[in-house]
Amino acid sequence: MGIFKENTSQNGVGSLTILALVERKGFFDTPIEFLKGVGPSKADVLKKELNIYTYGDLLRHYPFRYIDRTRFYRIGEITPDLQYIQLKGIIVDKQLIGEQRRKRLVATLQDERGSHLELVWFQGIKFIEKHIHIGKEYIAFGKPNFFNNKANLPHPDLELVSEAKKEFQTALQPVYSSTEKLKLFFLDTKGIMRLVYNLLEQGANFIDEDLPEAPLEQYKLMSRRDALIQIHFPKDSKLLQRSQARLKFEELFFIQLRLLFNKQIKKRLHNGSLFSVVGDNFNGFYTNHLPFELTGAQKRVIKEIRRDTNSGMQMNRLVQGDVGSGKTVVALMSMLLAIDNGFQACMMAPTEILATQHFHSISMMLKDMPVKVELLTGSTKKKQREKLFEELANGELKLLVGTHALIEDKVQFQNLGLVIIDEQHRFGVEQRAKLWQKNSSPPHILVMTATPIPRTLAMTLYGDLDVSVIDELPAGRKPIQTLHKFENHRLRLHGFLKEEIAKGRQVYIVYPLIEESEKMDYLDLMNGYEHITKSFPQPQYQVSIVHGKMKAAEKDFEMNRFKNGETHIMVATTVIEVGVNVPNASVMVIENAEKFGLSQLHQLRGRVGRGAEQSFCILMSSHKLSSEAKVRLDTMERTNDGFEISEVDLKLRGPGDLEGTQQSGVLDLRLADLAKDQQILIEARRCVEQILEEDPMLNMEKNKTLRIYFEKKSKREITWDKIS
Ligand code: ADP
Ligand code: MG
Repeated sequence: MGIFKENTSQNGVGSLTILALVERKGFFDTPIEFLKGVGPSKADVLKKELNIYTYGDLLRHYPFRYIDRTRFYRIGEITPDLQYIQLKGIIVDKQLIGEQRRKRLVATLQDERGSHLELVWFQGIKFIEKHIHIGKEYIAFGKPNFFNNKANLPHPDLELVSEAKKEFQTALQPVYSSTEKLKLFFLDTKGIMRLVYNLLEQGANFIDEDLPEAPLEQYKLMSRRDALIQIHFPKDSKLLQRSQARLKFEELFFIQLRLLFNKQIKKRLHNGSLFSVVGDNFNGFYTNHLPFELTGAQKRVIKEIRRDTNSGMQMNRLVQGDVGSGKTVVALMSMLLAIDNGFQACMMAPTEILATQHFHSISMMLKDMPVKVELLTGSTKKKQREKLFEELANGELKLLVGTHALIEDKVQFQNLGLVIIDEQHRFGVEQRAKLWQKNSSPPHILVMTATPIPRTLAMTLYGDLDVSVIDELPAGRKPIQTLHKFENHRLRLHGFLKEEIAKGRQVYIVYPLIEESEKMDYLDLMNGYEHITKSFPQPQYQVSIVHGKMKAAEKDFEMNRFKNGETHIMVATTVIEVGVNVPNASVMVIENAEKFGLSQLHQLRGRVGRGAEQSFCILMSSHKLSSEAKVRLDTMERTNDGFEISEVDLKLRGPGDLEGTQQSGVLDLRLADLAKDQQILIEARRCVEQILEEDPMLNMEKNKTLRIYFEKKSKREITWDKIS
């Protein structure tokens, strides 16, 4: 490997201690204090500032950038668009300029062509001044700055050529993130680089391979040892890339291993309630009360659910389906299946509006059936609540819809067999877990998301769930037409809305509600409302308003007026984002559309296009658009496909910002990027699947490293993915 020796025993006593430790704890788990150059105080600050506790942590503190040490610029080549550059030359002059607080140190570097460049310091002047020697040759590194059309180099790294040669011979020099605190302990990027160097020099040979041979061969992956060396001290950019690819693969591989291994363990451990019969409720509903023909996709998903619940194992299934794809009826039929088999079922929604709406649409569909359904939310009255609890406990009540009020301890079921969680991303993991414990044997879990998420993200976020996709909209729907318009279009917009209302349609007008500017948004909403009521005067036009500051009862009242067709226009904030179903509404106007994220825009648009009429979504924005906002609005105009939109969203925002990803923890990725590294993820997952298919309990010798990894991991932490 060149800079790292194959044999470390020459280090004498030091490495013996290390050896003993490595054998006891494993190299990666060796406490950072044991590293040469790290005393107690440095160890302390490394822990506090960077969460570096062990050798492994330090090795996983990857450089965020590299300095190309192979390329030297000439001073004449410097242009304003250059990023970091490296120059070589002799310091021919140094001067302290200016008074007091405006004091600066200016040194002049002369390159081999005789051109001059000013190196400038504003801080640490005295110290630096002492260490710069006129007449000596230096390597300077920094980001050039232009002042009056003349380049200078502020606060460059400066190294004597004679010294630079000795240390760290690597083509691409790593740059590490550090903090002000760390710098006080000489742990700037160079300091950290030294530590990593020491560590690799002492211990590179203790870095064992942790991937099985099959993927190493199949994907021609670098060994773990070489990858860790190359990612910190790359010989060239090709090797750097290969080391990154290897470590990304490793990162994603182990996430998938954890998810898929847990998934099958869960299946083995937990017997699910057996839904063995398809009985009167299910059949009766299907034959006599279903108001439409199911789509092929709905039928397929119901079959998948039927198969899961009839397998004797616990179902953990995610149903992904675009807005309007008809998830509710799938949920209802699954619940009827549970009831047919003597179990209770419940459905949990993230907001009161949505829970209420589910309750109403399910009640409607069941109105001629002998199945009772009740609603439980935060505003359910005490008396009603107590009655409800009683009926749940004695099994009289089979079907309950509600908000997270469902997970309170007081809610006790007699025999809960199925839990449906709608709009899953709004529920935290703990909430899922609580529901899970509502029965002596865990109920089947069906999670439904209305926000399509990219396949790769689903693999990672819900990797331990089986996934069904409703990829077909009910027949006869006309695709929604989406148009992006500016303020000068408003009069014509109002004219258009009046035409639609004259045809008997209804209209949503939605304003953003973003927390940091809540007051402003509220003002926007109220101004908007005023304008609307002026342009659409009573009694000809009736306007509803719903926003977050209203009481639940008021919201309900207004929602119902709109739903019953008593009002023509619904002015609202994003409280109506999820799940509201008014098929007669045919126009969705989104104000300040540039302020919304893509998935939100798509959700909002999904409120229309639910009837047989042509529907429209009008995105109103100002002319000032960031390039991202423009991509968002263009994407909305271009496509109605939620999955395509989610891919764009992932690329724009990165996975960390997509809804629901923060609490998951799985996305704590150091190297891999779910938007950019989809191919690696797909390969890593396939590889894990193959391994588990052949060796489900990882008993085979060739999978020993995986079992060890897994045992260690599960001892150390209770992971969220055990509890969904
Ligand atoms: P989402 O998947 O967004 O939750 P919903 O379940 O609310 O969708 O369904 C949207 C609308 O489509 C509802 O009015 C529902 O009654 C209707 N619907 C569902 N399935 C079908 C179908 N197979 N044919 C016709 N209409 C359907
Ligand atoms: Mg829905």
